[in-house]
Amino acid sequence: MFDYVGKATKIELPTCKFCGSRDTVKNGHRKGTQYYICKNCGKGFVDNKGLPRMRYPMDVVAKGVYDYYAGTSLTKIREGIAQQWNLYPADSAVYTWLRMLTKKAIAEAKKYPISVGDKWVCDETVVSLSGEKYWYIDIIDADTRFLLAAKISPNRTIKDIKATFEEAKEKAGKSPSEILSDGWAGYPDAVEQVFGADTKHAVGSPFKQDDLNTNLIERWHGTLKDRLKPMRGMDRSKVMQLVLDGFIFYYNYFRPHEGLEGETPGEAAKVKFPFRSWFDVAESLRPKPEPLPRDK
Ligand SMILES: [Zn+2]
Repeated sequence: MFDYVGKATKIELPTCKFCGSRDTVKNGHRKGTQYYICKNCGKGFVDNKGLPRMRYPMDVVAKGVYDYYAGTSLTKIREGIAQQWNLYPADSAVYTWLRMLTKKAIAEAKKYPISVGDKWVCDETVVSLSGEKYWYIDIIDADTRFLLAAKISPNRTIKDIKATFEEAKEKAGKSPSEILSDGWAGYPDAVEQVFGADTKHAVGSPFKQDDLNTNLIERWHGTLKDRLKPMRGMDRSKVMQLVLDGFIFYYNYFRPHEGLEGETPGEAAKVKFPFRSWFDVAESLRPKPEPLPRDK
């Protein structure tokens, strides 16, 4: 009987959000909030389903990042959170979530190999952000529509094109048999230097550019254009690249593709990626709860 009561009480206590231990005890109330302390790592915490060192619950964090990539303005994101949860995060908090979840999502995605085709398409577009002109350069697999690499640069030099090629090659784990691009004079050399003489270069495009250019790029561009605020300790071009990387991730892994009968490019490329949402990404940042003690 006492065993049963003891066990039931134990299960009601939250696991430690820093180390996942179940060895936690109540540690008093402050302003109506129950605090806990972990006897394993000694850290105090609130059971708000939040991430370590973060004040906000995971569903708030995941929603903020989802809305950001859906093109919602920072002001509207914060208004939505205030309405739904009565919480008032600062802009800097939203940027912290964005940075944490984007970096984690990209790091996780790197662990899963992709299987793409042999014909790739390289494309460049000029975008204007805060009055400055940038080149946006990307490379996509024609079969799966998997976006292999995308870079922004103040210039379009052979170095920029080669850096984009190198990244695509590393991600795909191979060189393509053919690369399509526009007629810019630097391409043939860049193709040969990165992929070797076996990769054929051709001028042209196998599918309509509306797919990426009017969708992903414009969305990314529109999102950044109106509210490009550097995150604390980050310069503007790093913020742009991080948000771009987040869009690429979203495009490859979360967004069903019309040209692929509703599959994501990641699914088309046979990636066994387990995350389906920004909530899954947020949840993966929490330590795994210690397993329940085995019944004797
Ligand atoms: Zn702990």
